[in-house]
Amino acid sequence: MSVTGVCQVCERREAEYACHRCGAAVCSVHFDTEQGVCVHCADPEGSEDVFSEGDTDDEVPEFR
Ligand SMILES: [Zn+2]
Ligand SMILES: [Zn+2]
Repeated sequence: MSVTGVCQVCERREAEYACHRCGAAVCSVHFDTEQGVCVHCADPEGSEDVFSEGDTDDEVPEFR
C-alpha cells in the first residue's frame, strides 16, 4: 500500500508511512517504526486531537 500526500501530523513533510492503527499517512518523523503506528497512536498520553476525525467537511453555518 503506497502512501501519497503529506504527513497528516505536520502536514509539511511527504508522508512515507501509513499508521497501522489509525491509518494516518505520516512522515518518517512522526512514525514509530518499531510499533508501526503514528506518534499519536504510539503515545497513549498524547491524547491531543491533532487529527481531524474523518473528513473535515463539516458544514459550518455561515453568518450573513
Ligand atoms: Zn510529519
Ligand atoms: Zn495512528
